Amino acid sequence: MNRIHIVSNRLPVSINIENDNIELIPSVGGLATGMRSVYKQYNGKWIGWPGLPNDDLNDELALRIEEKLVEEDCVSVHLSKEEVDLYYDGFSNRTIWPLFHYFAQYIDYDPALWDAFVSVNQKFADKALETLEEGDTIWIHDYQLLLVPEMIKSKKPEVTVGFFLHIPFPSFEVFRILPWRKELIEGMLGADLIGFHTFDYQRHFCSSVRRLMGYEISFNEIHIEDRIIIVDSFPMGIDYDKFREASIQTFQKPLQEKSKLHRELEKYFMVSPDRKLILSIDRLDYSKGIPNRLRAFSKFLEEYPEFIGKVTLIMLAVPSRGTVEHYINLKKEVDELVGRVNGKFGSVNYTPVWYFYRSLPFENLIELYSSCDVALVTPVRDGMNLVAKEYVASRTNRTGVMILSEMAGVAKEMGEAIIINPNNIKEIADAINQALTMPLDEQRERMVFLQDRIKRYDVFKWASEFVKSLSKVEEIQNSLYAKKINSKIMESLKSKYKASKKRSIFLDYDGTLTGFKKNPNDAKPDEELHKILYKLEEDPKNTVTIISGRDRESLEKWFEGHKINLIVEHGVWIKKYQKEWKMLSNATDTWKPSIRPSLESFVDRTPGSFIEEKNYSLVWHFRKAEPEQGELRANELKDELTTMIANHNLEILEGNKVIEVKSGGINKGIAALQFLQNQDFDFIFAIGDDWTDEYMFKELPDSCHTIKVGLKHTAAKYKVESVNSVRKLLIELSE
Ligand code: UDP
Repeated sequence: MNRIHIVSNRLPVSINIENDNIELIPSVGGLATGMRSVYKQYNGKWIGWPGLPNDDLNDELALRIEEKLVEEDCVSVHLSKEEVDLYYDGFSNRTIWPLFHYFAQYIDYDPALWDAFVSVNQKFADKALETLEEGDTIWIHDYQLLLVPEMIKSKKPEVTVGFFLHIPFPSFEVFRILPWRKELIEGMLGADLIGFHTFDYQRHFCSSVRRLMGYEISFNEIHIEDRIIIVDSFPMGIDYDKFREASIQTFQKPLQEKSKLHRELEKYFMVSPDRKLILSIDRLDYSKGIPNRLRAFSKFLEEYPEFIGKVTLIMLAVPSRGTVEHYINLKKEVDELVGRVNGKFGSVNYTPVWYFYRSLPFENLIELYSSCDVALVTPVRDGMNLVAKEYVASRTNRTGVMILSEMAGVAKEMGEAIIINPNNIKEIADAINQALTMPLDEQRERMVFLQDRIKRYDVFKWASEFVKSLSKVEEIQNSLYAKKINSKIMESLKSKYKASKKRSIFLDYDGTLTGFKKNPNDAKPDEELHKILYKLEEDPKNTVTIISGRDRESLEKWFEGHKINLIVEHGVWIKKYQKEWKMLSNATDTWKPSIRPSLESFVDRTPGSFIEEKNYSLVWHFRKAEPEQGELRANELKDELTTMIANHNLEILEGNKVIEVKSGGINKGIAALQFLQNQDFDFIFAIGDDWTDEYMFKELPDSCHTIKVGLKHTAAKYKVESVNSVRKLLIELSE
């Protein structure tokens, strides 16, 4: 792989100017640590905002800062105070942040914020485009830059683009609230690989893509025209060894070298060894559930009074976004709650909550992590939560208990924690009691599992797994173009055709032999197609079969007089030339009563749509519905059906203005194989355009000549571009 560049809102350094001296201070956050390993290893640049609005700098100073940044392989995106205000504090933190954390009531819908978001994203994209050279890969980070992937892809489609979202992706029901929802999705879909912390966020994203864009999604692949986008989850880790080693050193320090905080902590325990500490660390953000945590601690002291005087909650709240109204209110609420708990349960020599409203240096964090018996992490929503992982990594003696909200991404990796619902105050209070009374053996047992897991998937592994997937997706994209039939392949195909004695030719109909029409009944074969088919059929070496999802009637009528076999309803029925219709599969229809009501509700809500009942399938047609509403409902229906058919042997097929649910175990692949049984064809050819044809491409033996119409990802050997190219190919073969 060539160079990999990183794009994130902030560069991985902050700038300190003192007495005209410029100093770059490297950030120590998770993202900076993980990405530093990537862009250094792959000789890339880091593109981002240096953290100082450019109105604060004179030209000379700006130039000197720039020189320093260049030495660090950083490329800066210059932003004015106003831009930072509207794009970062504004749309990113007042619109996207509350939306993605399910705080719909806090969303700011100001179009001016959106405009700034678009133009600043464009600035980042422009810088990236200037930096990119042929063969480079780019990895874009987080919710501030959701539009950048598309801005890059549309200008340089050949560049492999990765995107990672560090916050949750909400359910469609919440995401749809936003007026600019479609634009955000389109922005993200400029990436070739889109990463999330958890499978749930990934699944919510796919659901939004399906509903808003109607793209085909199979497993974790989104198929759009001539591209495939991979969506996957990569739970971000921490620099485990750094926390572990720092924690070991903390304990080995002689008394005089210990920090003031550490000595205070030791003094606390000296008074009485059965005293306990509970730790809470977060940015002061409404997503972190801090008020409920305080309420739960109060409830705990109320319900378990034996702990009054013996347990202290250390609450570190790091100031954050302090100019935004909701954060100001939150600060007030937390201040009041701390006061209330301390007022109610405190005494001259007992303060229940030690409250720090500031950030602490790394050394102090380690001291807190390693001294506290319980970590209380109770966000109401959190993309991941690194504090939880850092606590685990710092527990070198393998004791300590983690109480963890099920709403944090990290809960998916920490089954051994005590998992709570952050809105259930009583449950948290009981969990605190459970944690404080947990026997040491049990603590160790749980901690060992947690540590093994967090150590294995650390931030370096996270980064390298993402990079590995990026190169995999690059291969997939390349293979999309690699399969196109060129003159050399055509010559070889023709010579094999000529040399063969008995040929089977499978032809899909709609989208292959003919283009899609508004009304499917208008898609009957034209003169040119009749001629092409007659020419193929008249060669006695050829057995020609139309293999289609259509019903029996129209195809039988349209191909009257042709020496042709018909396989219809995706393989349920077959009519060999001059024979009667016969059933090919042993499909069932017992599932129909459970699926039909759902389709009926879509008919009720979508004027013009109707249900067609085939023997082994139900089809919802929406070609006569109002087009936009039809598409919208179709995406909704697909999403709903996807959940309904889980655990049933059913399949959903998507055709032109139809959604079809059909009994499983029937497909064009099985049908084609059955057709070929006990025959000795020495040239088998199959061509089709959509994913129902993929079954055929997959099932047919390797020696067959399988061809996909369109550039999409396929199991077929080759691709042609359009219906016209199919017709040309068939003419050339039969000549
Ligand atoms: N942190 C810090 N200084 C502090 C308190 C916390 O640097 O005084 C760090 C902490 O070590 C962790 C990060 O801030 O790495 C918080 O990350 P998390 O994922 O828990 O929450 P976020 O703030 O990203 O929502």
